[in-house]
Amino acid sequence: MFLCGMPAGQTASGEEARLAALHQLNLLDTPPSESFDRITRMAAKIFDLPIAAVSLTDRDRQWFKSRIGVDHSSIPREKAPCGEVTDTGDLLIIPDLAADACYASSLLGQNGIRFYAGAPLTTRDGYVLGALCVLGTEARAVAADEVDALCDLAAMVMSQIELQHAFGRMDPLSGLPNRSQLMEDLGDLALDKAGTARFAVMVDLGQSHDIESISRIIGSTPIDQLVRDAAGILRTILGQDCNIYHVATTKFVFLSPPDVGEAAYLDFLSTALQTTRKGENSAIGITTAFGVVPLVHGKTDCTDMLRALNSAAYEAHFTASSISVYSDAMDEIHRRRFRLLRDFEDALQAGDQLRIVYQPRVGLSDRICGGAEALLRWRHPQFGDVPPGEFIPIVERSRFGKALTTFVLVSALKQLRAWKQAGLNLQLSVNVSACNLSEEDFAGEVASALAEHRVTAEALELEVTESAVMRDTRIALKHLHALSRMGISLAIDDFGTGYSSLAYLQQLPAQVVKIDQAFIRNLGKGERERTLVRSMISLSHDLGYRVVAEGVETGPEADVLQDMGCDEAQGYFFARPLEVEAFERWLATHRRPASGCGAADQAINE
Ligand code: C2E
Ligand code: MG
Ligand code: MG
Repeated sequence: MFLCGMPAGQTASGEEARLAALHQLNLLDTPPSESFDRITRMAAKIFDLPIAAVSLTDRDRQWFKSRIGVDHSSIPREKAPCGEVTDTGDLLIIPDLAADACYASSLLGQNGIRFYAGAPLTTRDGYVLGALCVLGTEARAVAADEVDALCDLAAMVMSQIELQHAFGRMDPLSGLPNRSQLMEDLGDLALDKAGTARFAVMVDLGQSHDIESISRIIGSTPIDQLVRDAAGILRTILGQDCNIYHVATTKFVFLSPPDVGEAAYLDFLSTALQTTRKGENSAIGITTAFGVVPLVHGKTDCTDMLRALNSAAYEAHFTASSISVYSDAMDEIHRRRFRLLRDFEDALQAGDQLRIVYQPRVGLSDRICGGAEALLRWRHPQFGDVPPGEFIPIVERSRFGKALTTFVLVSALKQLRAWKQAGLNLQLSVNVSACNLSEEDFAGEVASALAEHRVTAEALELEVTESAVMRDTRIALKHLHALSRMGISLAIDDFGTGYSSLAYLQQLPAQVVKIDQAFIRNLGKGERERTLVRSMISLSHDLGYRVVAEGVETGPEADVLQDMGCDEAQGYFFARPLEVEAFERWLATHRRPASGCGAADQAINE
């Protein structure tokens, strides 16, 4: 059965899969290695022949990972006996090439080779990578024990390949080359392609703490699956020829083609991201971000590039497009973010850096205060007051997100208790982060905190944003229903800035909708803007919500909103967020004289 060319059973797609498996091993065109040469020497010795090789079958060449007695590093695949071994998956013995109809005219046959024996190099998945072969310049018979030895040695070559694959170069989960391989390849490209410009891209499936908290709840197997699925999706997007590196649990890196334009490439990435996100339960989901770093082979330092990639991917989580291109200015921002995050842990312990301010919420018809929103403030020992809009999104995305909410919640409950003891019955609203809604027992912890501080559930309102709920809707809804059953009021914060429809939000057991200040700011602009707010109010009322306008800065805005039937308002027109003493002074003139204020009154009478 000495065949030439592709056997009938071998399909083109089977060959593509085989080539993909071979390329994934990253063995082709790598330098010689003693561990393979040792086996080749042994094969030559056993057969007492001058030529032996570990020959890998690429698309149209036989490339020698190890060779003895051969000058070339490769020969054409066409009419190469090793190519036949690959195509058939069988051992091939050609006792005399000169007498063989097919191989007499082959390159080897023409160059004086008479004898060939080759054993297939087969992976566990059944892909034949090539052959371990011995060749001689005289016709020769083969003994059975020689055949056995050749097959054993071929198995040793495969063990060696698997060993390299498993240790140090490949990620066992994704089967993709890892960070060490990326570094080595970049080192090679610095020599071979010096001066070529490209983009390196890091795909971050989700920030590690997200993944950690998700895996605490649902276990690590789905995360493994997520990583494998993501690897598959990237392969589809990027094609077989692109090397994708798996550099950390949820991070992949790949390089753009050489010399592509930035705008066109970002366009490609953006389309790829949008398309995959639309897929049902796609592994490349809403928490995925792309960090992009321009590089020039031979000039860009590889370690520095990886740091820049991490920095850009981290930044990308804060951008609307989820794609961020590295720049020096961004690096500055990133360093400050990193510093803030590191220092926030100290701030939680310090006792004098974090405090709560209170912004009153006022009934529009009677201009009486019914409660307040608790807002966190941080005075950093070096940076001074850090804007909440700067540090809160950073902390919320980190492992300290939970501690942040606990700090605000406990401070608010202590304050409610103190006010109650002083005869002041108020309701306080506390902002809840997305990370709280994916916690295992958020509702239970709120219940314990209420009990510990002896505050009734009705005195507490929790504000959630649409996006926080959407991150892990199933778990979020579970918590929100439990909190609602306890009697805690729920408000949809920053309403109108998310992407969800009111119909979707109806699933939430919320009582209050807080219209985002962006809409209120536009009230003076024109009739269209006013119509929008009027419709938001009436639609919310129709669905049974109480409506609060955020960011009311002027008397006319308050009046317009009152005319539109908006229930309550919050904003600088009434009061800025106030320190506790200032709030108490302000309250003295803005609450019902005798018994406290608003809806909270009935609720807090224990
Ligand atoms: P938010 O929950 O929508 O809070 C309202 C924000 O609007 C506050 O900003 C408040 O100071 C500001 N504001 C109120 N009235 C006006 C006004 O008339 N004009 C203008 N221009 N702004 C007004 P702040 O305190 O800077 O907080 C910003 C955001 O940070 C908050 O938006 C909230 O998302 C977050 N945040 C603040 N404190 C906490 C907290 O304790 N926990 C969590 N998770 N997030 C918080
Ligand atoms: Mg809020
Ligand atoms: Mg808001």
